[in-house]
Amino acid sequence: MIPAAFDYVAPTSLSEALAALAEHGDDAKIIAGGQSLLPVLRMRLNAPEVLVDLAKVPGLAGITDAGDRLRIGAMTTYQQLLDDPAVAEHAGVLVKAITEVADPQIRHRGTLGGALAHADPAGDVGAPVLALDATMVIAGADGTERRVPAAEFFLGLFETAVGPREVLVAVEISKHTGWGSAYEKFVRVSHQWAIVGVAVTARAEAGTITEARVALTNMGATPLRARDVEQALIGMPATATDLDTICARAGEGTEPPSDLNGDAEYRRHLAGVLTRRAVLTAVGT
Ligand SMILES: Cc1cc2nc3c(=O)[nH]c(=O)nc-3n(C[C@H](O)[C@H](O)[C@H](O)COP(=O)(O)OP(=O)(O)OC[C@H]3O[C@@H](n4cnc5c(N)ncnc54)[C@H](O)[C@@H]3O)c2cc1C
Repeated sequence: MIPAAFDYVAPTSLSEALAALAEHGDDAKIIAGGQSLLPVLRMRLNAPEVLVDLAKVPGLAGITDAGDRLRIGAMTTYQQLLDDPAVAEHAGVLVKAITEVADPQIRHRGTLGGALAHADPAGDVGAPVLALDATMVIAGADGTERRVPAAEFFLGLFETAVGPREVLVAVEISKHTGWGSAYEKFVRVSHQWAIVGVAVTARAEAGTITEARVALTNMGATPLRARDVEQALIGMPATATDLDTICARAGEGTEPPSDLNGDAEYRRHLAGVLTRRAVLTAVGT
């Protein structure tokens, strides 16, 4: 289908972009890489009157080493993240998840900020940013920035802490240098959206797990942390037999969807199996 008619503006500064959003309010929509928005417009699930394109706004793309953390501009594409060795070194789970996103064309157009702001529960980057305890940097109409922890960013189905007159400008990730990581994505065919995904960042010393973060994709309306599992993993020997029972509980208390790919109970089972695999990979067993 052809989208409904809309106006298009391409501001050349963040303040201009924020002014355009303030002027048009709920009638405006930001466009970044367009990989989620354009299908939505073509299916006429949304019909904004104005698209505010962030492509010409300087300073929104790129990765900066800020000492103890990386600052990733919201307009940084998946491919730029894959190409940057600092991201692989300090935020490995994000790279592992992005290699599982769609195909090369989409990875060259789609942006980290667009994917996070879109907040599809089956999207692959929500769980890694939770597992990395990232911070979202959001600019408001008056130009001031506020910081929202990833754990408070995803509010519901396709709903985040970014307001209609705000722009997600960056994602800050404290360096996880030396942490092990894994992203397990279960699909029936390649390039499919996750039926279930699990992101893990963990550290083990002398064969004992000292820190662990486990986050789930498509196990509810938003990406989720499996905090009970994380707690139970601390102090455990990093061996398969010891971790089986703990990891099997990853899906407990979740409300995943039931669809043609599997019902909720099957997804809970998958979450346990994938968590076990991801934890064992992350701790190097
Ligand atoms: C065929 C296909 C297969 C796909 N497969 C996968 C997959 O396997 N895994 C996966 O995770 N994803 C998949 N995707 C989705 C894709 O990865 C992302 O959702 C997409 O790239 C979003 O980023 P974007 O820059 O294109 O955002 P856009 O489409 O431009 O925007 C998405 C939404 O975010 C808002 N937005 C964008 N940037 C900002 C910002 N800086 N601040 C505030 N709001 C903003 C827009 O207004 C819009 O509502 C697939 C997409 C397609 C078309």
